[in-house]
Amino acid sequence: VVAVIPIVLNRDRNISVANYRELAGNGQLLVTSIFATIQGEGPLAGGGCVFLRLAGCNIGAKEDCPWCDTYFDFDGGRVMRVEVVLAEIREKLNGSVLVVVTGGEPLLQWEVMSAMMADATDLAWQFETNGLLLKDGVTRDILTHPNKAIRVVVSPKVPATLGKYRAIPAHWHELAEVLCLKYVVEDNPHSNYHQPGPVRAHEHLPALDTYVSGMAVYRRQLRPGEVANIWDDTLIDPVRTRSNYNHAARIVMDHPGLYWLSLQTHLFAGVE
Ligand code: SF4
Repeated sequence: VVAVIPIVLNRDRNISVANYRELAGNGQLLVTSIFATIQGEGPLAGGGCVFLRLAGCNIGAKEDCPWCDTYFDFDGGRVMRVEVVLAEIREKLNGSVLVVVTGGEPLLQWEVMSAMMADATDLAWQFETNGLLLKDGVTRDILTHPNKAIRVVVSPKVPATLGKYRAIPAHWHELAEVLCLKYVVEDNPHSNYHQPGPVRAHEHLPALDTYVSGMAVYRRQLRPGEVANIWDDTLIDPVRTRSNYNHAARIVMDHPGLYWLSLQTHLFAGVE
């Protein structure tokens, strides 16, 4: 059973690595936006950073995650040379060294990102990915990369056609020191997202660091440039959102030491 979601925000078509081939050959990225903010979720939550939001997603039609609230339209992306992207990031960092690379799906443009990070080993890079493209080759690249400050947050999605989470690939454990999982949950017992997914590939392997995050429920589509704010009940449904946050907290309390609660701090602060 799929969750009942009142509003689907920013639907797009599904994009593949091939859609970026020419850009990659020219050392270019397709970018949605670059902005200074705080990291809202996961192990570095609360830290000042710059977000590099890349355009396009391999689940752009959102059949697996209709609650996604980010804008990442492939055709609305800006083509930018890596030097220009890096210069804009440095200008906005304002003394911080943390760059959060998100999307859409940032691993669609891994090749160019990898080259860019090799030229910026003074900066720390955190990828937020759905994990579908975190294949063996990318794991090897990260483990051998000249930039030793690359971290990965995987937020796995439930395939709508499968109705349950995929198994965790065993090679993700090779990244255990730099990788964590984040599961979005909602209190609706019929939702595919009622419970978090697996935390390890095999029984004998230790669990990966795993965060559980309550789903924020939107009442309407965001207007261009509008910043979401949890205190604005014309935008976010406070009753359903509070219930989802409470559900996430109870999952953590029922499994102390296995899960960690992650709230969307940026929504509380009213920043992008
Ligand atoms: S994979 Fe992530 S960015 Fe893409 S639609 Fe789903 S939640 Fe949004």
